Amino acid sequence: MLFTKLLIPTLKDAPQEAEIVSHQLMLRAGMIRKVASGIYTWLPLGLKVLKKIETIVREEMDASGAQEVFMPMVQPRELWEETNRWEKMGPELLRIKDRHERDFCLGPTHEEVITDIIRDNVKSYKELPLNIYQIQTKFRDEVRPRYGIMRGREFLMKDSYSFNIDEESLQETYILMRETYKKVLERIGLEYKISSADSGSIGGDSSEEFHVLAENGEDTIAVSDSSEFAINTELLLKDGEDISSLEGKPSPDGKGTIQIKKGIEVGHIFKLGKLYAESMKANVLNSDGEASTLYMGCYGIGVSRLVAAAIEQNFDDKGIIWPHSIAPFDINIISIGHDKNKEIASASIDLYEELIKMGYSVLLDDRKDGYGTKIKDSELIGIPLNIIVGKNYLENKEVELKGRDGESSTNPITDIKTILDFFKNK
Ligand code: ATP
Ligand code: MG
Repeated sequence: MLFTKLLIPTLKDAPQEAEIVSHQLMLRAGMIRKVASGIYTWLPLGLKVLKKIETIVREEMDASGAQEVFMPMVQPRELWEETNRWEKMGPELLRIKDRHERDFCLGPTHEEVITDIIRDNVKSYKELPLNIYQIQTKFRDEVRPRYGIMRGREFLMKDSYSFNIDEESLQETYILMRETYKKVLERIGLEYKISSADSGSIGGDSSEEFHVLAENGEDTIAVSDSSEFAINTELLLKDGEDISSLEGKPSPDGKGTIQIKKGIEVGHIFKLGKLYAESMKANVLNSDGEASTLYMGCYGIGVSRLVAAAIEQNFDDKGIIWPHSIAPFDINIISIGHDKNKEIASASIDLYEELIKMGYSVLLDDRKDGYGTKIKDSELIGIPLNIIVGKNYLENKEVELKGRDGESSTNPITDIKTILDFFKNK
């Protein structure tokens, strides 16, 4: 894409309201703009990153055998009465009325809607297990929306719900989802921990959270330095334990010592058991021909929160350093004097078209500005590789390669292989 054709309103300074790095950088890089408290518009650059994360999540969910659906955001009160959550959810549930004075809410989660569909349409254990997912906007009237899209009121979530005939089958789906979430975070390229957690307003038997480790994380987790053991200290606080006494103590699993870390919760997986199925009377016939209450699991990933979490783990004083997997563009061609020098403009466009043909997503900075402005913006928005077409091209038909990590090299413009190898190593 041409920079001059894109809406990328970058800012020199972060607006005052932005308290943490990811919020500051998302505003400065022109990725998002606030509409109301906890409610944001995703501008083109932000949306590209969001879509890349969405694609990774969708591909891994599909590979696990889950099926995609799309449920409504507006949900009738009656369904929420069945689980007593119309009252129980409190003010986080945004209630609205239609023109006939009927009560509805904006979906903060979708257990009720999906359970209603399954109880009406699935009759036998032979049709199970089922794992149904969607990637959709949620609304939660958070008491303290903050940190931009990290804790928004309107946000994008991948939520899935499994329906199983017994506990054993639920355990299998749960483990499959656990593995799927690991794959998602590994493909994005984030450092994370899986910790035992409090099940909160969703409830159920047990749950685990996926935490991206970052200093600005809202959660405090106790992790072992030499095993996978991790627990959200929220759980310990509930039991009156003292977190500070944990530091440096042997890990409860007998491996290594405990360290206290900050984490951003990006995923949460629950074994719900019969919780919702019982109150909503969701049964199927089992192998003995008897009605049997379904077992359920639910599994959420904060798709929009992952954008902020990825930034919190990957930035420097110049801006964002995107992992390749989710960068808005792979390569930025910085064309110096694009508007004045035909030779530079046509070499830049040829290179741009060639790289696009090879399947790369490429930005061509064709603005009138000089090198300083262009490289600063590119570093702010975090593109992994810059190719600078300027004086060197006019003199020797060479371009300068500059990685977001600062590494650089000068190569003939025709040496595409070296250019791409340089990119791959970033
Ligand atoms: P939290 O403790 O952060 O409020 P939660 O336990 O309420 O999270 P879940 O109901 O498990 O969250 O939702 C699944 C995922 O959706 C979370 O792991 C998180 O990544 C994301 N999420 C939840 N609330 C928000 C929010 N207000 N803004 C952005 N993402 C959110
Ligand atoms: Mg919450």
